[in-house]
Amino acid sequence: MARLEIHQIPVLGDNYVYLVHDSVSGETACVDPAVAGPVRDALQGKGWRLSHILNTHHHGDHTGGNMELKQVTGCTIVGSAADAARIPGIDVRVAEGDTVAIGSHVARVMDVPGHTSGHIAFWFENSKALFSGDTLFSLGCGRLFEGSAEQMWASLLKFRSLADDTRVYCAHEYTNSNADFALSIDPDNAALNRRADEITRLREAGQPTVPSMMGDEKAANPFLRADDDSLLAATGLTGQDAVSAFAEIRHRKDIF
Ligand code: ZN
Ligand code: FE
Repeated sequence: MARLEIHQIPVLGDNYVYLVHDSVSGETACVDPAVAGPVRDALQGKGWRLSHILNTHHHGDHTGGNMELKQVTGCTIVGSAADAARIPGIDVRVAEGDTVAIGSHVARVMDVPGHTSGHIAFWFENSKALFSGDTLFSLGCGRLFEGSAEQMWASLLKFRSLADDTRVYCAHEYTNSNADFALSIDPDNAALNRRADEITRLREAGQPTVPSMMGDEKAANPFLRADDDSLLAATGLTGQDAVSAFAEIRHRKDIF
């Protein structure tokens, strides 16, 4: 089985669109096409044929390219069963535990509500690649537009159960500002300080900070650590249950 090829396309200032390619079958999926033009250019540059669109959620900066790409390529659009009415051009409705095959590479669907009520993620277990959309960012998480803190915390716990060497392909380059917030509430976290230094180096070199490693997120991302005693102590939240602590940390980020 050939390695899954992943091509990252920066668009709209801080969005990442991904092409996921299986060289044996020639199948190619596009994760969250915010816009069609740069995706068509990338497909042409690579000589790849689009077979699927995988949408993590309905927001326009994740689905804006759906209809044009479907019209031009005839691709199959895969999205959340719970949110089918809001996914433009949806063909295949999926939910927790369903699988999507891109050639011989299989993605498992995870229901991860919180940012939106129907948010899903795609986990390519064998390739150790997680497409987390706007649920988990490097050192951050999505805003709670439609879901509760309880839902988001449960979604993040699903991600936290994945192996440390899982690569996290999130949909935005928000890492710098996320690092500023994380350091403001957890300044003595050595893993966070190491990651912040790495982020500074990458951004100064004009490089993406995404994907990140799940192990680094577990150690440094405050939104995955709402049940960690040292973070609770640092934030004055000792004794709070994880959902309450998570809600408070999310609130502090909202007003940061
Ligand atoms: Zn979004
Ligand atoms: Fe987004």
